[in-house]
Amino acid sequence: MDLGISGKRALVCASSKGLGLGCAEALAAAGVHLVMNARGAEALEAAAQDIRGRYGVEVATVACDVTTPEGQAQVLEAASEPDILVTNAGGPPPGLWSDWDREDFIAALDANMLTPIALMKACLPAMQARGWGRVVNITSQSVKAPIPALGLSNAARTGLTGYVAGTSRQVAPQGVTINNLLPGIHDTDRAAALDGGVSRQQNISVDAARAQREATIPARRYGTREEFGAACAFLCSVHAGFIVGQNLLVDGGATNATI
Ligand code: NAP
Repeated sequence: MDLGISGKRALVCASSKGLGLGCAEALAAAGVHLVMNARGAEALEAAAQDIRGRYGVEVATVACDVTTPEGQAQVLEAASEPDILVTNAGGPPPGLWSDWDREDFIAALDANMLTPIALMKACLPAMQARGWGRVVNITSQSVKAPIPALGLSNAARTGLTGYVAGTSRQVAPQGVTINNLLPGIHDTDRAAALDGGVSRQQNISVDAARAQREATIPARRYGTREEFGAACAFLCSVHAGFIVGQNLLVDGGATNATI
């Protein structure tokens, strides 16, 4: 399917690895020029070089922490009013409800709620003025069904979801859509880190921790970054203009809900 977005320009945050990289690759495959970002310059440049080589699109890189105001200013300057914005950042650490203090919540809110909101606030006006724009926020299945060990993530991402629900309806009249993608477990460094935690906690091997988690997913496997990126690229396509303010689970059926 021709996604109809060849030649558009996208800012894809936190995209040297994992789900962000999957989104960057799928957009590049559709002919979209990219600004990619991550903190680590080496992996970022390697990913950008690979994408340039495979898809022939322009790729600029900005090595910075996108959860800081300085980092946000840097990516926004490089992307300069993009047509497409994909927000993403690392997830908050796991723990127990009684572990977390105000500072922990402020850090989680900054990274997973206030950063995407700041980026949207900066990018939406030009999209509205042009009469076309796409925003996809990478959130989590924990928005629909809480993951007890990820209370910081549950809290911050649900706040973002509420913001998107209202804002998406305010920018839709100008041809701008905002939607959220809700990953379940995908085969990325983040999933490996979570499996490592379970392995230590339960004194089992990392493979056993993974097999245990896979058994809870109806698809009986982890998702891939390519599958996730394809869903993102579709939401950014010309065909998705009537999809507004939605929360799309990409979780192999793990969230046991009718709607
Ligand atoms: P990942 O494989 O660990 O990749 C994270 C990417 O983001 C890397 O490129 C990393 O590069 C970059 N990054 C992290 N923090 C950043 C920051 N502050 N500023 C700029 N770049 C940053 O993680 P992932 O699995 O793709 O997860 C992406 C998001 O989806 C996370 O918020 C995660 O919690 C959420 N999620 C993932 C899953 C899953 O199964 N994978 C499920 C539900 C939700 P640097 O480290 O070099 O900055």
